[in-house]
Amino acid sequence: MILTPDFTTNPYWWDAAPPDGTPTDPLPEQVDVAIIGSGFCGLAAALELARGGLRTAVLEAGPLGIGASSRSGGMVSSGQKLVLTDVLKDFDDGEQARALEDSAETFDFLKSLIWREKLDADLQLTGRFFGAWTPKHFETLQKHAELLARRTGVTTRIVTKSQQHDEIGSDFYHGGMVVEEYGGVHPAKYNRALREAARQAGAGLYAFAAVQGWTQQGDGLAVRTARGVVQAKNLIVATNGYTTAEALPWHRRRVIPVTAFIVATEPLAPTVMDEIMPRRRMISDTRKELSFFRPSPDGTRVLFGGRPDAFHNDERSAAIGLRARMVQVFPQLAGVRLSHAWRGNVCMTFDKLPHLGQEQGVHYALGCNGNGVALMSWMGQQTALAILGRQNRAPVFQQRPFPTAIGYKDRTWFLPLVSAGYHFRDFLDRPGAVLAERMSRKSA
Ligand SMILES: Cc1cc2nc3c(=O)[nH]c(=O)nc-3n(C[C@H](O)[C@H](O)[C@H](O)COP(=O)(O)OP(=O)(O)OC[C@H]3O[C@@H](n4cnc5c(N)ncnc54)[C@H](O)[C@@H]3O)c2cc1C
Repeated sequence: MILTPDFTTNPYWWDAAPPDGTPTDPLPEQVDVAIIGSGFCGLAAALELARGGLRTAVLEAGPLGIGASSRSGGMVSSGQKLVLTDVLKDFDDGEQARALEDSAETFDFLKSLIWREKLDADLQLTGRFFGAWTPKHFETLQKHAELLARRTGVTTRIVTKSQQHDEIGSDFYHGGMVVEEYGGVHPAKYNRALREAARQAGAGLYAFAAVQGWTQQGDGLAVRTARGVVQAKNLIVATNGYTTAEALPWHRRRVIPVTAFIVATEPLAPTVMDEIMPRRRMISDTRKELSFFRPSPDGTRVLFGGRPDAFHNDERSAAIGLRARMVQVFPQLAGVRLSHAWRGNVCMTFDKLPHLGQEQGVHYALGCNGNGVALMSWMGQQTALAILGRQNRAPVFQQRPFPTAIGYKDRTWFLPLVSAGYHFRDFLDRPGAVLAERMSRKSA
């Protein structure tokens, strides 16, 4: 039996801070800014706009906070993808430098927002360990450590396989890299705290108000929702991996929602946690179809995430795959059951970059590409500042061409093929580990 009797497919995070589906006030007839989506992005925008004195309404299709923001791994960092991948290859030197500056700012913004507003978000700057999937990846991490430190100013440290137990109670990785400044939040608490802060600042938050479309009306827009029409001078699309073709066809053509899964273990003995995660680090690895995992903020459980199959179907089958991966990293957890397994949508883009700007007068902030806790909060704030006319300088990702692909509307038929390619690459890199993991699933 690998699941507890009270196993649920709701996120572990919701035990402490569930989405808010209580009946809300009638929609306002008129606002200065309407925001579609109540995740980090929409709420950070709402907070800034309401503080700036604008009448602001957040329109959410489901209960407030139902999207990725309350389902996330909650791990926060800055800039490593921009430095360590080739996503900035089309940027000139100046743009690259500004992209790194912006990226570092996302992390600083998140920390200062949480501290300044005293948000109950369990921010823990415990550092992050990146485990090397192969000896070759370890060599690459050595170069990356130097590059990250030099270009983003963080403190990096290389950990050899023989030193690894100081960071993680596992022999599974071939050493790794530590970044001391990174950390994590409780994402659902952070989302709830943002909701409270936005409300207190004067923003209206409206659940079950799915936006169906809009039409130009005078110098503003008539925004049609499931609960009636709202007149808005400005509109922000903050729907990320939950963008639908029916309501937002232009945006949907430019984003690729990808499902990711996380499982939570039942509570573990403190001695076990001390052994497997001695420094309570956030952890991810360098395989193509990566695993990411962390302790719960109270330090009692392991939360383990990833996409264990190219052709997955539901939370329970994903749970079996993720548990097999987890036990491979931590054989100490072989007898441990799972209490939660859940899914959420990450938002990829065709150029793997975030995008914010305006299309036909409607603002958008989309494309976390898997790393959105800090980034999407900051993009929400930046969009608000643009509307308020208070941006110091436009982010480098603002108003860049937002690519799509010929013939793409919303069908992501190609995703299983891409994921299968990643899994195959991982198999080629480390066939023994992949086969052993597959075998252990069968006996689960
Ligand atoms: C499993 C998982 C793990 C993750 N782990 C991490 C991590 O460790 N670190 C990290 O940095 N990032 C992580 N992310 C990414 C991060 O969670 C997201 O980037 C971030 O939460 C996105 O915030 P958002 O506000 O843009 O969108 P969301 O929080 O997804 O909110 C979008 C909202 O828009 C609403 N919506 C959609 N259409 C409409 C409509 N027509 N009308 C009204 N409302 C609408 C949706 O219902 C949804 O509530 C993870 C994501 C997932 C799914």
